[in-house]
Parts: sequence; C-alpha cells; structure tokens
Amino acid sequence: MQNFIKKAFVKDNRWLLVSILVLVLLIITYGEMRRYDLVKQVDQQILALASTTDTQVFTLQEQIKNIVSQNNLLNNVVQTELVKNEALADQVEQVADTAVALDKLSKTDTQLLQKYSKVFFLNEHYEPSEITSIPSKYTYGKSDNLDMHGLVYPYLDKMFKDAFADDIDLRVISAYRSFGTQASLKSTYQVIYGAGTANQFSADQGYSEHQLGTTVDFTTTVLKDDNITFDQTEAFTWLKDNAYKYGFALSYPKNNSYYVYEPWHWRFVGVDLANKLHRENKYFYDLDQRVINNYLGVFFD
Ligand SMILES: [Zn+2]
Repeated sequence: MQNFIKKAFVKDNRWLLVSILVLVLLIITYGEMRRYDLVKQVDQQILALASTTDTQVFTLQEQIKNIVSQNNLLNNVVQTELVKNEALADQVEQVADTAVALDKLSKTDTQLLQKYSKVFFLNEHYEPSEITSIPSKYTYGKSDNLDMHGLVYPYLDKMFKDAFADDIDLRVISAYRSFGTQASLKSTYQVIYGAGTANQFSADQGYSEHQLGTTVDFTTTVLKDDNITFDQTEAFTWLKDNAYKYGFALSYPKNNSYYVYEPWHWRFVGVDLANKLHRENKYFYDLDQRVINNYLGVFFD
C-alpha cells in the first residue's frame, strides 16, 4: 500500500505540483481580491469623510460669512448712531450757544450801541453799569481824574499799550461825563457863547456818547488842551489804522451829516462791529440801527 502511494505520488508528482501551484494561485488571487475590496472600502470611507469635512467646512465658512456680515451691519448701525449722536451734540451745543448769546444779549445794555443824534438823547439818569478810573499815564492833565466804562477800559488799556509800543504820543483828554458834568459844561458854554451858539457845539451834541462811558476824546502831549488839529498828528493816523482792532470807531468823520468833524472823538462799539466798519470803510452812523443791534450780543467779545 505504502508503495502504491509512494508510486502514485512519484507518478503524479507533476500533477500534485500543478495542483499546489493552482491552489497557491487561487489563494493569492483571493488575497488580492480581499485587499482590493478593503482598499476600495477605505477609499470610500476616506471619500465620505472628506465629503463630510468639506460640507462642514463649507457650513463653517457660511457661518463665518454670516457673522462677518452681521458684524458689518452692527458696525454700520453703531456708526449711524454715532453720527446721530454727534449731530445731536452739535444741536445741543448750538442751542447752548444760542442760549448763551441770548443771555449775553439780555444782559448787555442796549444803550451801548444806540445811535445818538440831535433827536435821540440819553436819559438824564443813565449811568454806566461800572465806572473805572483811567490811569494818569494815559491822560492829559494829571490833576484831572478821568473815568470810563469799567468793561470798556481793558480795550483802551490794550490800545494804549500797543500805541506806546509804537512810540505814539497819545492821551485821553475827556472820557465819561455824567449828565450833571455835562449840564454844567453846557451852561459854561452858554454863558460864554450864548445858548444858541452853545447848542451847535459838537461837545454838546456828542455828550450822550460820553455819558455812556464808552467814548473818549484824544489829544497829544504837544497839542495839550487845543486838540482841534488832532487829525494832523501821527496819533490820529495810528488810530485810523489800528483803533478798530480794539473796538474803537471814529463817530463823526469829515463831511458827515450828523455833527461837525471830531477827529479826537472815538467811541467803543465792540471789536466785531469796529472791524466791519473798518472793512467796509463805513462809519457807525452810516449803519441802520437794526444792523448795529446785531452786534450787541458780541459787544464785549
Ligand atoms: Zn467827544
């Protein structure tokens, strides 16, 4: 029997080898097929995973876009609100400014910018709200105590400091005159010249402006009391070029239709109005009272 098997084995050795070979080939083929299936499965899983990740990334991107867009929208709203707030603040400021201007206007003595003429005189009881002495270094005749409106004096002081810095010989010879002072001055003139002639005097006509305390008459240390030729002095030229910067204006220029020419007589009208007059080459009495009144609120600015 063993021999038979041995023989058969030997005899069929070739077939056996072929059979084993076929078996090995089958096993390899099967293994390859399995491997292929597995690779395919893994690939599909990777693909599915990638697709899921892509979808998630896309969703996330969309969400981020939405957030950014919402954020922009919010920023716009905030910006709009900020602009609105600014506009509101401006309005509040404007209202406050108007209130301050109105308050200032209500507290500013309307007489200070009134035109005084032969038909419009100040009340005899009128007095400036504050009266200050003008230092003797600015006045002519040291024994005379000259006064003026306390709130206008700082402007005169500044003007004198600048005039003196320019070596200008300038002095105040007359300033605030109360009704009483003016009355006695007038009666003196009446005694000397007679009532009719005295009434023609510019000193009389202009007294109302002096009663305001805002008006000064100038002279120089050379002219002294006799300032009739004041317009020929360097001081007059300087005032013509500079007085407006300090709020002063010449009340009665040459050939005006109100009073005689008074080159020495300067009235404080406020810096804004004086600048306007200088710019437009006009005089206080040329302007309509309604135009003048617009400057009352900025009189002491
Ligand atoms: Zn005068």
